[in-house]
Amino acid sequence: MAPKLCALCSTNKAILKRPKTGQQVCKDCFFYVFETEVHHTITRAGLFKPGDKVAIGASGGKDSTVLAHVLKTLNERYNYGLILFLLSIDEGITGYRDDSLETVKRNQQQYDMPLKILSYDELYGWTMDAIVSQVGRKNNCTFCGVFRRQALDRGAAMLNVDHIVTGHNADDIAETVLMNIMRGDIARLGRCTSIVTEGEDTIKRSKPFKYAYEKEIVMYAYFKKLDYFSTECIYSPDAYRGHARTFLKELEAARPSAIIDIIHSGEAFEIREEVKAGQKSQQTCKRCGYMSSNDLCKACTLLEGLERGMAGSGITERERKKLDAEGRAPENLRTIPFYRRSTRTPGPEVPIVVEAQVDPAMITDHYRPYTAE
Ligand code: SF4
Ligand code: ZN
Ligand code: ZN
Repeated sequence: MAPKLCALCSTNKAILKRPKTGQQVCKDCFFYVFETEVHHTITRAGLFKPGDKVAIGASGGKDSTVLAHVLKTLNERYNYGLILFLLSIDEGITGYRDDSLETVKRNQQQYDMPLKILSYDELYGWTMDAIVSQVGRKNNCTFCGVFRRQALDRGAAMLNVDHIVTGHNADDIAETVLMNIMRGDIARLGRCTSIVTEGEDTIKRSKPFKYAYEKEIVMYAYFKKLDYFSTECIYSPDAYRGHARTFLKELEAARPSAIIDIIHSGEAFEIREEVKAGQKSQQTCKRCGYMSSNDLCKACTLLEGLERGMAGSGITERERKKLDAEGRAPENLRTIPFYRRSTRTPGPEVPIVVEAQVDPAMITDHYRPYTAE
């Protein structure tokens, strides 16, 4: 049987099947369509203008490595006129981030871009290793996510860039759409598919790989022989996202367009104004000066919790103020098992037992300390 020819150039032998479209194509045509689709995403959304200074959030992983390679290629091919930087965050995770940062340092040489590395330790005085040893492995990604967002902004300010691009791909976005639906977080659902996020005081962020399939990013990295780091974080990633991911992969196996279809569904949702209006007026954090909707920004609220050694309590700044005003500082709270009477489920009452830090005054008929009968 004669070898199958590439569906695009009809000249070369087809050596791969595009996960996104099922087309059988040659290597060169695959590179070209992949890059061109990203170029169209960029131009349709008007992401850049000539002279923009753009920082690529670089972790050394496949997504950001391919992003750096493709942006460099497109910048030269289409004369975008961008000045590109690599910006890496060192979370302080031994055995994971230290190795991936070595990859980023090689990428700096390979792509000839200035690199800035900022660590949680220098910004916050805490590494993720230290945080996990204090809070355990349950909320680590909450800390890490809040700290990373702010660290990227601070790094971008130090590099004096106008814009941060991240390697989030179509699979990531489809997963987020599913998660927001499953959590009923409609305000986030309305925002999560936008390619650009930009607030008044925040640095512009965008996702040029919004429509790029993860499988194609892996293929691109593989056939281009790019230097990337493929180990997962040693601290268990978000379990809930894991379920959404497994579900999405099953849908993709049955019908590859599922990923794009979910993104399109997310884009087509119309969110009511009163649901959208979740964001409060901005001020600056009293502790670090970062923009915030409360006296303390999210990172400083978490840091205060860590410093007090009670990070798990999830007490917000506002709750804290209220407690202080009433002379009921969180330090006085007691950790006791208590239960909430189930009011929704018919049938015999099943106590839902949780361990929590409660103020004795909160113990009412509805929330009663649990005593095993
Ligand atoms: Fe941080 Fe969680 Fe990602 Fe690890 S998996 S790098 S702890 S957000
Ligand atoms: Zn071809
Ligand atoms: Zn702060």
